[in-house]
Amino acid sequence: MLDYLDLGADLTDEERLIRDTAREFVDEEVRPDVGDHYIEGTFPTELIPEMGEMGFYAPNLDGYGLPGVSETAYGLLMQELEACDSGLRSMASVQGALVMYPIYAYGSETQKETWLPKLGTGDAVGCFGLTEPEHGSDPAGMETHAERDEDGWVLNGSKTWITNSPIADVAVVWAKDRSNDDAVRGFLVETDRDGVTTNEIKEKLSLRASITGEIGLNDVRIPEENVLPGVEGMKGPLSCLTQARYGIAWGAVGAARDAFETARAYAKDRDQFGGPIARFQLQQEKLAEMATQISLAQLLAHRLGDLKERGDLTPQHVSMAKRNNVRMARDQCRVAREILGGNGITADYSPMRHMANMETVYTYEGTHDIHTLVLGQDLTGIAAFE
Ligand SMILES: Cc1cc2nc3c(=O)[nH]c(=O)nc-3n(C[C@H](O)[C@H](O)[C@H](O)COP(=O)(O)OP(=O)(O)OC[C@H]3O[C@@H](n4cnc5c(N)ncnc54)[C@H](O)[C@@H]3O)c2cc1C
Repeated sequence: MLDYLDLGADLTDEERLIRDTAREFVDEEVRPDVGDHYIEGTFPTELIPEMGEMGFYAPNLDGYGLPGVSETAYGLLMQELEACDSGLRSMASVQGALVMYPIYAYGSETQKETWLPKLGTGDAVGCFGLTEPEHGSDPAGMETHAERDEDGWVLNGSKTWITNSPIADVAVVWAKDRSNDDAVRGFLVETDRDGVTTNEIKEKLSLRASITGEIGLNDVRIPEENVLPGVEGMKGPLSCLTQARYGIAWGAVGAARDAFETARAYAKDRDQFGGPIARFQLQQEKLAEMATQISLAQLLAHRLGDLKERGDLTPQHVSMAKRNNVRMARDQCRVAREILGGNGITADYSPMRHMANMETVYTYEGTHDIHTLVLGQDLTGIAAFE
């Protein structure tokens, strides 16, 4: 497995164990069928509790049955899951960073005790509803709103592109509080409440081994105890996205590494003009460049882990890493696909699947352009969003 700069040597025993356990799980349980899931547009939902048992959901949090592993261990886990498929990493990212994290960071004690243990084991599935049909990169423009009534709250609006909404038990829905200057609040919405719909979006050509849907909210009544009490404003959803993007910065390296390993093996095995194509300088240049770019992205991810561990990680650091590592993976998976020739366009090999997945990963959790603007603002002090 490519680790050209021997970053593995600096891992703790626990980090190595988590990485190797995840790698083994993926190889045995998911990799054999992931191509079929991709073609069918399905997710192996039977693995959701097993992934919980393995500790794949928010293991970097502490308490409520969660082990509190290091941020590097969490990153390595995301890397191994995405080396199989971005859909698998998305499942763990959404459940852990976008659903469990806001409950952990901003929830009441009752909300934490109700939801964190069962989300952690995979006995319940969560989703994160921020994006709307008319508000993607600019979520502050959201139209979904909440109004107080005598029993609690009434929610109306619609969310789209929501990972796992069709199979979720609970949605973290971000909505504007009409009774308080449109301040954004987080609501825990059980999906079996009257007025909630979660239609699946089926026509995807990317991230096909992942379930995506909408959330419709039509006069949905929510009791007061379902509001996240600890946060108000866009800081709520944005802080969750920083957690999830951290995982993506690691995960994308996994996809690129898997594409590289597939291409390297293929190049050594595939004979043309009387010998393996790996002997051609043109192919070696591709492999050399891929290995270099993957190694640089690995360095960035490891540094991010250290900064997060010591509490010095900023959202802008995460923007730089998400932006760079996903672009790198998107570019390098394409080169890997090219090395495989015609076979590279089939689901028998991973590079084209990873390459297509990267179109989603490049776009969700802040598009590449938006992270460029975040960095631009940080570097110049001038916001160029509008
Ligand atoms: C498979 C999948 C799963 C997803 N899962 C979730 C989920 O679980 N929860 C959730 O809330 N959302 C989810 N999303 C939504 C995702 O976060 C949005 O798609 C993303 O934020 C971009 O929004 P948009 O698609 O509306 O694009 P738009 O915002 O309409 O952007 C279109 C283009 O315009 C560019 N652009 C926009 N504004 C600017 C600007 N100021 N300057 C320059 N260029 C600009 C963008 O970079 C992009 O290239 C998911 C998306 C996908 C595809």
